[in-house]
Parts: sequence; C-alpha cells; structure tokens
Amino acid sequence: MPGWAMNLMSEKIGGSRAFGRFPELEAFRSWLSHGMLLATSVTCIVCAIAAVGGLWVLPDFHLWLTVTFGVLSFGLSQLIRRKPATTQYAIPSFIVGLAVVLLSGDVLVVADEMRFAWHFPALGAAFVIGGIAGGLFILATAILSLSVSTFALSAMSVAGLLTYCTTLSLMSVLIVIIELRFVWTLEKLQKSRLILADLANTDPLTGLGNRLAFDRKLKALFYSGADFSVILCDLDHFKGINDTYGHAIGDDVLKAVATILTNSTRPQDMVARIGGEEFCMLLTDVGLEGALQRTEAIRKEIQKHPVKAGSELVHCTASFGVTHKGAAVRSDPSQLLVAADRALYAAKADGRNRLRIAA
Ligand code: GH3
Ligand code: MG
Ligand code: MG
Repeated sequence: MPGWAMNLMSEKIGGSRAFGRFPELEAFRSWLSHGMLLATSVTCIVCAIAAVGGLWVLPDFHLWLTVTFGVLSFGLSQLIRRKPATTQYAIPSFIVGLAVVLLSGDVLVVADEMRFAWHFPALGAAFVIGGIAGGLFILATAILSLSVSTFALSAMSVAGLLTYCTTLSLMSVLIVIIELRFVWTLEKLQKSRLILADLANTDPLTGLGNRLAFDRKLKALFYSGADFSVILCDLDHFKGINDTYGHAIGDDVLKAVATILTNSTRPQDMVARIGGEEFCMLLTDVGLEGALQRTEAIRKEIQKHPVKAGSELVHCTASFGVTHKGAAVRSDPSQLLVAADRALYAAKADGRNRLRIAA
C-alpha cells in the first residue's frame, strides 16, 4: 500500500486521534484494541461453529467471510500485543474488515430478521478502538447497508430504517461524548503529573535543577560512559552577606549567581543548586582542561558582578572544586562528588575565591 494511503488510514480511520498522543494513553489503546480484537475473533469463530452445527443459517460466502474475519482479528490482536507500534495499521485493517462483514451479513443473511442488531456492538467497538473517524466510517457503512437492505431487498419498512439509523446515530453521539471526556480527563491528569514532576526537580528560588535532578543527571551521565567534569561551587562567607544585608539580599545574590552559572554553560550541561549556597555543574565533552578554563571564567564573572542592595553593592566570591570522570577509576557516581568536595575544601583552606582540582 502506498505511503500516503497508509498515513490516511492510520490518521483518519486508525484512531490515533481517539486517545490523544501521550504514551500511557497509547499503551492503553493498544491494550484495549488487543482485547477487543480477541473478543471479535472469539465471536466470529463461535458464530461459525454454530452455523456449521446447524444452529444458524449462514450462506456459505458469509460463513467463509466470518471465519476469515475471525482469523484476521486474532492475527491482528497478536500483532498488536507483540508489536504495539503496529496498532496504527492493524486497527484500520480491522475497521475495513468489520465494514465488509457487516455489509455481507445485512445483504446475505436474509433468513435472520434480527441481523441488523450486529451494527450496535460493531459501532461500539469501532468508536472505542478506531476513534471518531473509525466509528463514523462504520456508522456510514451501516446507514448505507441498512438503506440498501430497505430499498433494494425490502428487508424492513422506511419507518424501521429511520428508527435504526436514529438509534445508531444517537449511540454514536453518546460514545463520542464519553470518549472525548475520557481523553480530556486523562490529558488533564497527564499535565498535572508533568507539572508535579517539574516541581519535584526544580529549586524554587533560582529555577535551577535541585539535588534530586542533579543526582539523576549525574547517574545517567556516569553510566552512559560520557566524558564529563563535576564542578562544585560554594559561595564564600555567605553567612556574612546574610548577616550584613539580610536574607532577602542573600536570596538576590543566590539568584544572580544562578544566572551567571546558567549563562556560562551550554544547554547540554547541567547546573543545579544542591544546597543552601552550594551549586554544582556537570560539563560534558570539554575535558578537564576545558572545565578548568570555564570554571576560572565563571569565578571571575561572579567576582566582577556585585548585586545591588539599595544604594550599596554586595560583592561576592565563590570557591570551586573540580573533578573529571576520567581523572581516576571511580566505581560509582557519588565518589565524583566526594572528590569534588575535597577539592572545594582545599580551595577554601587555601584562601577562597579560587578553584582546586581533585587529586
Ligand atoms: P564558607 O566561605 O566557608 O562557605 O562560609 P559560608 O558563610 O558561606 O558558609 P556557612 O555554611 O557558614 O553558611 C552558609 C549560609 O548560607 C548559612 C545559611 O543561612 C545561608 N543560606 C542557606 N540557604 C539560604 C537561602 O536559601 N537563602 C539565603 N539568603 N541564605 C541561605
Ligand atoms: Mg556551604
Ligand atoms: Mg559558603
């Protein structure tokens, strides 16, 4: 099948719009589709056995079609279970197969005056797993099929046709309302979850990542085998700034330093506030030499940019401990922090406003 036709089928009939676009919803759709396809295949096979056993009068062609559709549904259900990504192609195939079986049943199974009742479960299944487009496709097929049965085969009166079409349409509207509300609720929950996850990883004062986010990134980088440096930064005599200018000015200094650190790093690096006046940076792919140069530049920037406190300027400096992943064999990421912390203490002991490298 050409690519454009595949896209049209999956977008318009396949129901990719039916349940939104986030992973949990897609997984739920795969699960639901798998179950419905399995239920359809069981129904088809049971009907076929009943017909072969003489309980039901099904013409040969429709019987053959029912068995084929049952086998197709079973195959598609297994495909979806093993490869959820194929759902977008499996569902359109199922919807088209369903339409063909419905048409065949309406036109060929004339001995069964209740055959049109199959449209109701078929419509429900089509809307639920095929989305609005899939459901509307089956509704249109049903109306066409019922009209042909009424006017060409005199299977029912025009009043009967109107009742059938009205009830099928009403059922479609109800399913669409429930489905849209369901998707809306799930999307709202998903958004709240993303907001909460963001809050859990963010330092509210500076907007930088917090210790939790930092630990995660450090672990991920460490085990990815990437080349990176860890730089601990601790403001010098910060308690004195708080004591002299007050806590609010202290907060302004923290925010100003956070801005300098963010502006001095690239998007692929990480800057986090991991304690009161302690920051940590993870610089990737610059090597130890590059990390030292950047740290020195940052140190000078902090020293050069005092923060305004009324008519006064608050000068601040910082000390740094630098280590590099390749500097020694480390068995776990926390050892890198220990090494950087030791280097930071050396910087403090040597007079502050300087950087030291981990031994
Ligand atoms: P050193 O040069 O040895 O690092 O000295 P220091 O004064 O910076 O270190 P110390 O650990 O003695 O003091 C840290 C201070 O940071 C004490 C605490 O009140 C302050 N602090 C911690 N969190 C915040 C915060 O969110 N806002 C403000 N304004 N101050 C904070
Ligand atoms: Mg400190
Ligand atoms: Mg300090």
